[in-house]
Amino acid sequence: MSATIIDGKAIAVRVRADVAREARAFSERTGRPPGLATVLVGEDPGSAVYVGAKQRACAEVGMAAFDKRLPADAPFLQVAELLQRLNRDPAVSGVLLQLPVPPHLDGPELTGLIEAAKDVDGLTPLNAGLLALGRPGLRPCTPSGVMELLARVDVELEGAEAVVVGRSNLFGKPMAQLLLQENATVTVCHSRTRDLPGVCARADVLIAAVGRPRMVRGEFVKEGAVVIDVGVNRLTPEEAGNKSGLVGDVDYAAALERASAITPVPGGVGPMTIAMLLRNTLVAARRQAGIEDDA
Ligand code: NAP
Repeated sequence: MSATIIDGKAIAVRVRADVAREARAFSERTGRPPGLATVLVGEDPGSAVYVGAKQRACAEVGMAAFDKRLPADAPFLQVAELLQRLNRDPAVSGVLLQLPVPPHLDGPELTGLIEAAKDVDGLTPLNAGLLALGRPGLRPCTPSGVMELLARVDVELEGAEAVVVGRSNLFGKPMAQLLLQENATVTVCHSRTRDLPGVCARADVLIAAVGRPRMVRGEFVKEGAVVIDVGVNRLTPEEAGNKSGLVGDVDYAAALERASAITPVPGGVGPMTIAMLLRNTLVAARRQAGIEDDA
């Protein structure tokens, strides 16, 4: 079997086009566009690239983008005050604190200061709790992006065995909750899981988010499984065997021979994260304006 390749880039383009259309309708109705504020503390080059991409993506879909930067030695109170100011600003529909923050700051504690209604990363305790309870709230972007990919390629989740490798608050835990909500039978694996290959080999839907290049080998993949590779690992171009130097957590070539569908790295899950951030910003703006939506 050679798998269908799930084109996250193309699906993200469609999501962004839908958001752009709906953002236009929102602006016409309310007289102002949805707005996203990003907060970057310090000069980490990787984080600066991510923030730049989020800012550009906002502009492309007709949203207002507020780019807030603080020095690497900014004290907790200064970051907290900025977040609270953004919470109160009616032009700002969504607030995102770019992680990781410098080591003297507590990222989760700062994230927790973001108003839940503006928490477009879906990482505050309130939104995490709403997700666990299956109640409406803002959902973390990368797991939402995976759900969108699975929906767009018509993967049946009801009753399916879904295995998530990785249990981070950012990805693994919310991913498991979202799959459970769609009535999958969910197993979450981590570094202490005893028989990782055996558990993975049961999966109809196998999702890897570990951060270890190609650790999910071909024999972990059941024939006909859908494989979603969330990992982003940077290798030298010689090691990676592709131009970008990026590889996922799955041995792509081996999994391609067994899976029915698979996401590539790059071009799979990655492009969906910003697309879902834009959608969350639109959803937040609508809810703040009292406009009904079905998200
Ligand atoms: P993380 O917080 O480091 O979590 C990694 C998870 O993998 C942990 O739960 C850890 O288990 C588990 N793990 C580590 N070694 C393992 C092993 N040998 N066997 C089984 N499980 C193991 O990472 P994360 O933030 O979830 O991110 C994971 C990957 O996804 C990274 O490559 C990251 O770059 C990527 N990512 C991509 C996007 C995107 O937009 N494309 C977004 C988010 C993350 P323990 O809990 O037991 O330590």
